[in-house]
This record gives sequence, C-alpha cells and structure tokens, in this order.
Amino acid sequence: MEDFSISRKFVQQDWQPSVGEKFWLDHFREPPPGHLHAECPRGSEKCQVHYDRINPHNSLSDAVEHFVESDLGFAITVVSIVVGEAGLIYWLSKPCNPESRNYWDS
Ligand SMILES: [Zn+2]
Repeated sequence: MEDFSISRKFVQQDWQPSVGEKFWLDHFREPPPGHLHAECPRGSEKCQVHYDRINPHNSLSDAVEHFVESDLGFAITVVSIVVGEAGLIYWLSKPCNPESRNYWDS
C-alpha cells in the first residue's frame, strides 16, 4: 500500500492518539482492528498515513483479553514473577559494586 496523506482534523476526531518511533511527530492510529498509522508533523494540517502490520492498541487489548482468559496467561504471570524475584535476589546478592567498595576503602 502506498503512503497517502489525510487531514489532521479527521484523525484527531476519529482515530486514537498514539505513539511511534518518530517522537517529533504526532501519531494517530485507526481504532482497532484498523492498521493505519498517521504521522503528523507538528503544526501541519496534513498527516502521512501508512499501514502497520501491528496496531499496538489492537494487540494490547487482544493480549490482555487472551491473557486473562487463558491458563497460558496465568502460567506466564507465575513464571514472570518467579523470574523477576530470582533476578532481584541475584541483584541483591551481588558483591558490592566497585564504587561502593571504594567508598568503604577510603
Ligand atoms: Zn507506523
């Protein structure tokens, strides 16, 4: 699909404010399950629209829904908590970092 331009008014009214890698532009996305992504230069009335394979708003709500209703989601939650704790314990049990050692030696 070729990029095309669209008016800022339209996307501001009907699309969702969003984020994108180009932080200096204003971003709007077609409401799910749409895949269009508009990037509007600040102060411009025209936005460049392109097709994104993934709509983060779409995949996020999908993800949350599936997450809540599936055992897999539960399993992932448990695993991520365990991994998170293990990481924390590892971090806490690390020997002093060089800076704090210098602090105590001096
Ligand atoms: Zn995009």
